[in-house]
Amino acid sequence: MSSNSRKRKGSTVPEQDNGVPKKPRAPRQSKSKKTVQAEPTPEWPEYFTNLFKVFKALNTVLAFCSSRKNFAITFPVVRSSVEALLHAPLELEKVAELKALLPEIVKFAYTPKSELRIHSDQQVGPSRRERSPDYAAFQTAGASSSRLNDVDEDEHVLVLDFLDNSRGKKNAGTGLAYALPPALTPAATKKLVERRNERFIEAVNELLRATPLDDDPVVLLQVAARDHIPVHPAVIRPLTTLSQSPDKGKYKAVPEPDSRPAIEEVIQEIEGQEWYAEQISYRRIFDAKDGQLAILDPPLSESIAQALRDSRKITSLYTHQVAAIDALSQGQNVIVSTSTASGKSVPLLQFLESDPHSTAIFIYPTKALAQDQRAALEQLLYSCPGLEHIQVSTYDGDTPQELRAGIRDTASVIFTNFDMLHASVLPHEDTWRRFLKNLKIVAVDELHYYHGIFGSHVAQVMRRLRRVCAAVGNRRARFVSCSATIAKPGQHMRNILGIDNIVEVTEDGAPSGRKDFLVWNPPLKDPMDPTLGRLSSMTEATKLMRFLMARGVRVILFCKIRKSCELAMKTLRQELTADGRLDILERVMSYRGGYSQEDRRKIEREAFSGNLLGIVATNALELGVDIGVLDAVIMLGFPIGGLASFRQQAGRAGRRARDALAVFVADSLPVDQHFINYPEELFDRTTDDLIVDLDSKVILEAHLQCAAHEMPLTDEDEVYFGPPMKELCETRLIKDKEGWYHTHPRYLPYPAKHVSIRGAEEEKYSVVDVTRVGKPGGIATILEEIEVSRALFEIYEGAVFIHQGLTFLVQEVSHDTKMAKLVRSDVNWITEPRDFTNVDAVQTYRIREIKDSPHRAFYGRVELFTLVYGYFKLRNKAIIDAVDLDTPPWQRETTGMWLDVPKSALELMRASGMNPAEAIHSAQHAFLNRFALAVDLKTECKVPEKEYKAHTSQRKRPARLIFYEPSGKTGGVAVKAFDHVNDILRDAHDRVENCQCEDGCTECVDSPSCKEGNVVASKAGALIVLKAILARPIDVDLLQHEPDETLQVHDTVVEATSVRTAEGVEVESS
Ligand SMILES: [Zn+2]
Ligand SMILES: [Zn+2]
Repeated sequence: MSSNSRKRKGSTVPEQDNGVPKKPRAPRQSKSKKTVQAEPTPEWPEYFTNLFKVFKALNTVLAFCSSRKNFAITFPVVRSSVEALLHAPLELEKVAELKALLPEIVKFAYTPKSELRIHSDQQVGPSRRERSPDYAAFQTAGASSSRLNDVDEDEHVLVLDFLDNSRGKKNAGTGLAYALPPALTPAATKKLVERRNERFIEAVNELLRATPLDDDPVVLLQVAARDHIPVHPAVIRPLTTLSQSPDKGKYKAVPEPDSRPAIEEVIQEIEGQEWYAEQISYRRIFDAKDGQLAILDPPLSESIAQALRDSRKITSLYTHQVAAIDALSQGQNVIVSTSTASGKSVPLLQFLESDPHSTAIFIYPTKALAQDQRAALEQLLYSCPGLEHIQVSTYDGDTPQELRAGIRDTASVIFTNFDMLHASVLPHEDTWRRFLKNLKIVAVDELHYYHGIFGSHVAQVMRRLRRVCAAVGNRRARFVSCSATIAKPGQHMRNILGIDNIVEVTEDGAPSGRKDFLVWNPPLKDPMDPTLGRLSSMTEATKLMRFLMARGVRVILFCKIRKSCELAMKTLRQELTADGRLDILERVMSYRGGYSQEDRRKIEREAFSGNLLGIVATNALELGVDIGVLDAVIMLGFPIGGLASFRQQAGRAGRRARDALAVFVADSLPVDQHFINYPEELFDRTTDDLIVDLDSKVILEAHLQCAAHEMPLTDEDEVYFGPPMKELCETRLIKDKEGWYHTHPRYLPYPAKHVSIRGAEEEKYSVVDVTRVGKPGGIATILEEIEVSRALFEIYEGAVFIHQGLTFLVQEVSHDTKMAKLVRSDVNWITEPRDFTNVDAVQTYRIREIKDSPHRAFYGRVELFTLVYGYFKLRNKAIIDAVDLDTPPWQRETTGMWLDVPKSALELMRASGMNPAEAIHSAQHAFLNRFALAVDLKTECKVPEKEYKAHTSQRKRPARLIFYEPSGKTGGVAVKAFDHVNDILRDAHDRVENCQCEDGCTECVDSPSCKEGNVVASKAGALIVLKAILARPIDVDLLQHEPDETLQVHDTVVEATSVRTAEGVEVESS
């Protein structure tokens, strides 16, 4: 829609009429700003000339303030200065008119007072080093009863400021070097003032041009300004307790869920908003669908029918449920790949009716899911005459030891997870024989969750389970799974469970409401200058979320990572406070994996009961934890989990027969912009096959060691573990005289302990809020627990830590007690650590030949030295301060493996102008990319700031590929990489050599988990390094490359010298 054709609605001035020009956009997008002047300048009514005087005075005052970083820009301060300039009073209404005219530039809102303290309290010393900050100054006053609902209790002050300070300053775009923002010179200040004045003139001209002849631009602006007079939060607060307040205040109370407007109306309303600038780039509507019922033949027994009626109000079954029940009763296995309930409880009831000794295992990926489902099943059984006594038990890591024996002896149904099967049930199969003999149903929920390395482990655990069942004489157990909609559900079930005879049910018979799907592209910052990029996707997403919540639409906002989740929550806090919508704010929460279990259960309950209007979550909520009915889903950026994850998240809204909304807010990342260009793919493209690597020798060997301990292996067990089993048994297990294979002593006495199916547990730091300690009734509360490997980078002294969107300052960190003390403090910056880690091999324990090569692989002790030497304070992505830290380095020992880069290869690269640091870094990632357990192995990533910085580094590193286990992990992963080094090296080499990409991709030399974003990288270099280690000829083509002249390269790599070897070490053959 061309914007000048749009009819102005009522008396509001659409904000975009002002800040953003109205006329056909295309011709205006030329680089030259002067094109604006090409249009005839309309005559200004006197009102605007006077308004301009006010603006100019304000502009001068604010420019002065912003040149002094430590100045509190509150309205009273600004007002007195402006009034002195104008010799006239400055009314609130005048400022509101300016805000209505230039909404993108003028900030005029109540803000918690503590947010401003950076301006007033902190003087930046000449050394730029912070000496023990006075945390007392940051503490909030008063105590709150609930931390989770901690609405700002602070006093609020009215802030008047301009928001465009960073405008026009182009980001260098390299992302390589950090620099402090230059202090504003008087000339730059003058420029800033001029630019803002121009902006005002443009805005007035645009408004005048866009005003229809029969309207008065002055009246329009004055009416619009009424909405911009800030409302003090304290004034709004009482409204939240009144359910109806039709004529008080400007805000309507949030409608009850049942009386919320239809999604269609809401979208229409969005399109009419002042801030709407064609963000909806694609829309698809899925019509409502009636339920498809089917009749079961033979019908359900009267008691089961009664149970369904009484406990679930079910009187008829949908087609997919009938199909699943039929298949199971005919002895087949089933996977139901739909978005609704699968109907696995009915067959269970049928088995129990015909044989009360029947048992079943229900497996869920998370404890929370298992809890939900267990309660529902118990209720169903209780309503079923004759089955009331059936014992259903949770059997997971939290089950007390003293209850476990009872469960093994008497339970009919257990709710558990694969971790327990692997480490507790199977190793003690002798105590589980009653249960395993009578096992009729194994239900694996959320089957799509199991893929990648975890999926490969789970697949082997299932094979162990089936083998043990068969050994106790049970070959009748049937398997039923449900999953989100995935590409090949039957195939996936076959991979994970190792079974055939699978019926796929993919037609969903349940009814569904209409669903609107929007693809949302944030608008350009300045339509006249596309090079400035687009507005922040986070601001767009939170704006949309606030809009929906205000209309009673219950929303979940999915963020990709924990950090963006907290920042989104923080943004919502600020915006809702500024809007005076504390009534909504107290009904929004964030939800992440790191939160304590207690907090998570609490949030889930709040959500389920309908108390929450909004949840900001990471994909921790992607799985089916029941949080009740949601009306809308907003996805902030394309999820890391890909298309399957995308659809799973989108499916979280509108499970019942009610209309729903899903919005994908695109980031500026290439993957997001791809879907802006090809939105149909979001719906129509098949998801990638879920990968389960059944051939990984590393994983297979681990489970063979476990299986042999459960009962010795024979060659016949190949039916479970496949052909590669034989060779591994011969080489890695111990064979007795009768031909049975036994666990290698290295894994004894408890093999499962050596095999961690989700990756090894890391030690954790407690993050403790001590704000209220020392105050009446104040106690310390644990906010989160953080793995050691992250703690270092998130909780250093002075760090800003965000929890539930609230900011805390880290006051004290003890690495001895693994605890960080934090105080609550409203600051308007975030922090980012500056650090490096040296990884040094110090002693060799084992040496292994590289096949057909004179070179060797090494395994041994590794020293890690991490130094967080400072941090940046960032506000709006700009660095406002660099603080040095005097923290002690974090040194620890671990085990690792390494491969030295041959001297010849190093010389070859230097001679042809290649950067060895790039080559080594890429080769390391290529190696890890081909190693199945790579998540538990780290490497020394090359840091761009160091490799490309202007002067040479003192920190030269040996030319070595090195991999280590993060401290605290003892999964024996490095030794596995060492044992399989020949396979991995060969795979890595072949993959890099054959990869079709040009400069490296995540298939070959890039890693999504690279700590330094794969900036220091070279695909050709990686290949040279790998070839050299494998002693293969190096093609001269590889050496022909064009050096990047823009980067200054210094040699940061020195030849690797050999590492001290422990006594008696012999070279092992390849
Ligand atoms: Zn590639
Ligand atoms: Zn890296």
